Amino acid sequence: MILVMSNNATEADIDSVAKQIKEWGHDVSISKGEIQTIIGIIGDKQDLAGKPLHTLAGVEKVLEVSAPYKKASRAFHPEDSTLDIAGVKIGGGHKSIIAGPCSVDSYENLINIAKSVQKAGATMLRGGAFKPRTSPYSFQGKGKEGLEMLAEARRETGLPIVTELMSEKDIDLVYQYTDVIQIGARNMQNFALLKEIGKLGKPVILKNGIASTVKEHLMSVEYVLSGGLQEVIIALRGVRSYETAMRNTLDVALVPYLQKETHLPVIVDPSHSAGKREFVSALGFAGMAAGADGMIIEVHPCPSCALSDGDQALLPEDFDYLMEKIKVLDAWNQKEWKEKFGSKKTSDSFLGGK
Ligand code: PEP
Ligand code: MN
Repeated sequence: MILVMSNNATEADIDSVAKQIKEWGHDVSISKGEIQTIIGIIGDKQDLAGKPLHTLAGVEKVLEVSAPYKKASRAFHPEDSTLDIAGVKIGGGHKSIIAGPCSVDSYENLINIAKSVQKAGATMLRGGAFKPRTSPYSFQGKGKEGLEMLAEARRETGLPIVTELMSEKDIDLVYQYTDVIQIGARNMQNFALLKEIGKLGKPVILKNGIASTVKEHLMSVEYVLSGGLQEVIIALRGVRSYETAMRNTLDVALVPYLQKETHLPVIVDPSHSAGKREFVSALGFAGMAAGADGMIIEVHPCPSCALSDGDQALLPEDFDYLMEKIKVLDAWNQKEWKEKFGSKKTSDSFLGGK
């Protein structure tokens, strides 16, 4: 349920409504917009049956929210959430491109990739140190050594880093190094892990599961938010479908769908969806054209030497070209779209996010 406060509700009204709801045993989520404040009530609506919500001072309307994801839903939080990751903004019109190797292999490769993607306009560096691999005999990631290389690359470039956390047992280690925690497809429903990271203070990128529905994805986002963390980025990496031409199927219409349902930033991962280098750029561009708040994408100077996902790694020059196209799209969004369509929703800021 949500309580829409009237335009002239005072701070004291808001506080006293929140206090009353808590006394009735429910947690609240308060979202202060430019004009109106919304108080979301978390919990089972049956428990509030018969409670005089309408009569609380300052309450204008009581609305039912049917979505089971409350904290993630736009009804609870009508304004876009903007995350600030070590100075890099994402969401609320700020776009951010996260690029780097699938897995960290050597420092030389990592720093070369970092410098080259930064020059092209990437604002964060990705790289896996703990890799979820289908075969136990495949390369599993460099672990702590990989994290150290990422931290060194951050020192040298200033790019915040994104790396995957696979297990609760690695939380302390990974949290020492990274700026953003990635939870990959295979762990989207590792609820114990989601609950833990929701209690910790670092932003999370949560990818959809291999065969998840959007609703399941959002419920997993809700697990993280229910721990108290507010900074979650939703990443679409495609799902397994009957179609085998691509590694996974990415429905770019889910970008505006998720942006309608939630206030959180939504990004696309064209690398794990396409699975083949030659289709990655088209899919990334399509996701950005659909209005994504950013992209997470794999780049490697020697895909055949990469220790994982070489087939889908863009060469640095392919990434440069894609970024040029995305910048043209962004500039077009700023100017021509606005001239033609006025206030219709568009991106409001430049790539770079700062
Ligand atoms: C990755 O980002 O390299 C990765 C393993 O992603 P996913 O969880 O989407 O498969
Ligand atoms: Mn990968």
